[in-house]
Amino acid sequence: MSASVLTAQNIVKSYGSGASRFEALKGVSLDIREGETVAIVGKSGSGKSTLMHLLALLDDPDGGVLLVGGVDARQLKSTAMNVLRNRDFGFVFQQFFLTPNASVLDNVVLPLKIAGVGPRERRARGMAALEQLELADKAKNKAINLSGGQKQRVVIARALVNNPKVIFADEPTGNLDTATGRLVEDILFSLNRDKGITLVIVTHDVELAARCDRQIFIRDGLEDTTSTEVAS
Ligand code: ADP
Ligand code: MG
Repeated sequence: MSASVLTAQNIVKSYGSGASRFEALKGVSLDIREGETVAIVGKSGSGKSTLMHLLALLDDPDGGVLLVGGVDARQLKSTAMNVLRNRDFGFVFQQFFLTPNASVLDNVVLPLKIAGVGPRERRARGMAALEQLELADKAKNKAINLSGGQKQRVVIARALVNNPKVIFADEPTGNLDTATGRLVEDILFSLNRDKGITLVIVTHDVELAARCDRQIFIRDGLEDTTSTEVAS
């Protein structure tokens, strides 16, 4: 069996306090292994994005344990956590918008800039990522001037540029028409096949979920092990 990339043990997360306190995750346990494609499925408001943010180390749980490559995330200092996240994780989130007036290339190389990679190497690696997404000819365009599908491909290029182990995608096709959405999905799955990148995809698209090796159903902040509507 392949190595464990991420393990969540009974994680709990609440928002707000006092009477307005809301428990978005009520104790979720799961294990994601290297090279897997995993769909996190559930209705709107069920806690999918919250779960993904915790798995991606973008937020801390209130309770439970998160293991990253077998290491308790609480043992990592924040700088080590930031380095790990920037180096090993790629993000395809709707809310992680592109900087509209920056060039496509500048948007793509942002994770490299954060990692302290020099300008020449940044450019080379950024262009290589854009070539993979067939967007090299758009490198100098402003991000704002692209179509929806092109923007999402730029976001994938940016997620890829650090050669990550895991790509987290939250509703990656939510804003795209069906045909463009399928193309973006094909790109994500080819990254899994060709590079062994682990995919964790939040979606309420049953067809996208069914393309993944495994589906994790979330219902009202808990894993719903009785639901098999996509898998069957
Ligand atoms: P999903 O991605 O499945 O739609 P979310 O994880 O975004 O669900 O949200 C789960 C629940 O937590 C929802 O009821 C949502 O309103 C609430 N929630 C999410 N983020 C916040 C926040 N920052 N502050 C307060 N409540 C939040
Ligand atoms: Mg969500």
